[in-house]
This record gives sequence, structure tokens and C-alpha cells, in this order.
Amino acid sequence: MKVGIVGAGMVGSAAGYALALTGTVSRVVLVDLDAALARAQAEDIAHAVPFASSTVIEHGDYPALAGASVVILAAGVGQKPGETRLALLARNAAVFREVTARVLEHAPDAILLVASNPVDVMTQITTRLTGLPPERVIGSGTILDTARFRSLLGRHLGISPRSVHAYVLGEHGDSEVLAWSSARAGSAPLASFAAQVGAPITGHVRDAIDDGVRNAAYTIIAGKGATWYGIGAGLSRIVRAIAQDQNAVLSVSIATQDVLGVHDVALSLPRIVGAAGVTAHLMPDLADDEAAALMKSAQLLKDTADAVCL
Ligand code: ADP
Repeated sequence: MKVGIVGAGMVGSAAGYALALTGTVSRVVLVDLDAALARAQAEDIAHAVPFASSTVIEHGDYPALAGASVVILAAGVGQKPGETRLALLARNAAVFREVTARVLEHAPDAILLVASNPVDVMTQITTRLTGLPPERVIGSGTILDTARFRSLLGRHLGISPRSVHAYVLGEHGDSEVLAWSSARAGSAPLASFAAQVGAPITGHVRDAIDDGVRNAAYTIIAGKGATWYGIGAGLSRIVRAIAQDQNAVLSVSIATQDVLGVHDVALSLPRIVGAAGVTAHLMPDLADDEAAALMKSAQLLKDTADAVCL
């Protein structure tokens, strides 16, 4: 399978690196407005490949995307001093208008994988701009938040995160909802498992995990300015589900007709991801406070997306 990446900055190149090292796909093409950057990133990643896989890493302009089954959209512009979030969003929407038109000109059948932030709103905007069916416009959403939630729960319980089933829903951002009430470990409800292994989920443990999931990005940004490795690996995970038609259940964002009464909003829910993109979503059983928080997150995202003039 061939994967295109538009935007060869930190996130796009980290995704390319993760795809190359895992040998998930046969070919990766990097495209950027800054052609020298795309070339440099592709050549740097290509130097790592002989140690790990046989993925071919290329760079080029939009025509080089021909034949790509998935195109990762990681292009974007940074915030100017004093610029509001909405003004920044409008500028990024303009970038995406141009980028998506050019991508679809050369790779009309590709699944678009949106990575640029705010990812849920950018996913909604991309769906509106392209008119593609929502299952073909997938935002990375809370894939990383969910991985971190499982990892922290696994560490507390002393088990592999793979044996923990728990999801972060809603926005990839401040209003996200950790679905504690539906979390399970092994086949048991979380609280029961935790009690049996002598590691109860006290209020203190819950607050510490919630904080660790919610504020992880802030800590990283404080130390190195931005985040890229985690999301790069998350994007590679989503591509693997598509490339291998896994029908894996992943928390990703797509435009969704109805989320607890909020209509046409992109946010994360556990969704089935395979070769055709997203084929279904699941609504976990939620406690009343979680459902209220998810509804609030959905409304906030919808209001923001609706405020962006396309
Ligand atoms: P991030 O940390 O999100 O990856 P970067 O600023 O490192 O952010 O990367 C964003 C990349 O998107 C930059 O390399 C920039 O050149 C690229 N870019 C911006 N606008 C466009 C565009 N219209 N087409 C292609 N690439 C673009």
C-alpha cells in the first residue's frame, strides 16, 4: 500500500518515520509547501529504513500522491502573535481547502487521515470541504489519549495496557471524557479487577490518572515546544488498521450524525476501522455525568466548527 503525507513538519515526518520503522506499508510519499523540507525529511527517514524494513520513502509534489490509498493531512500554519484560535482555524481551513483539492485531484480514492489540530474541527471542516462520505475522512482524535489512559491504568494494575479496555471520548483536548464507567480489565469491570489484584482505584488514583491523560501534552509542550512521536505512532496505528483491513476498534474522530442529540459533529468514539475506513461506531455505556460531559464536548466542537466560514 502507498501512503501520502502532506505536511512534512514534525507530526508528518514522525508519522512517516513510524510507518517506515514498522514496515506497515510498502511506500510513503512526503509532500510539503517547502519542497526542500519534504526532501530532507524523506531522505533522513530513508536512512533509517535499512535497519528496520523495506518501505520505500519518497518526496514530491502532489502528482506523486497518485495511487495512494491513504493520505495523512499534517499541514498547517502556526499561530501568529495575538491571533485568536478562531482566526488561526480560518487560516488552517484555507490551507486545507487548497490541500484537499490537490490531494483528491491525484488520489481521488484515498482515505484522508487528518492530523492537524484542533483535529476534530479540522476533520469536520475537511468533510465539509471535500463532500466525501464521513467514513473516508478520519481524524486521529483521541487515539493518543486512549493509549495513555490504558497505559496508566495498566501500570496501576500491574498488567499490560493491551489487557485494559478503556476509551477517551469526545474532543482531543480540554473537554475530552475519560469513560471510567465502561472501563474493563481482562473481562472484569475495572473496579472489580482492581480490587482482586489489590490495587483499588481510589479517588486519588483516579484524579492522578485523569490528570496524566488530560495534561500529558501540556507537559511535553512545556519541555520541547510541541509533540510528535506519540501522534506519529498513533497515525501509523490507524494506517495499519486500514492497510491490513483489521476492523480494529480505535478511538478516532469522524463527522457523526447524532451524538447524544448533537447533530453532525466530528469527535472521537470507539469506531471500527478497516480497509473502507470507519464502518461503524460504538457508544459505550456511560454514567450520567460522563454522558453530560460528552454532550457538552460535542456541542462545543459543533459550535466551533460552525463558526468557521468555509
Ligand atoms: P506540526 O508540529 O503540526 O507538524 P509543523 O509546523 O512542524 O507543525 O508542520 C506543518 C507543515 O505544514 C510545515 O512543514 C509547512 O510547510 C506545511 N504546510 C503549510 N501549508 C502547507 C500547504 N498549503 N501545503 C503543504 N504543506 C503545507
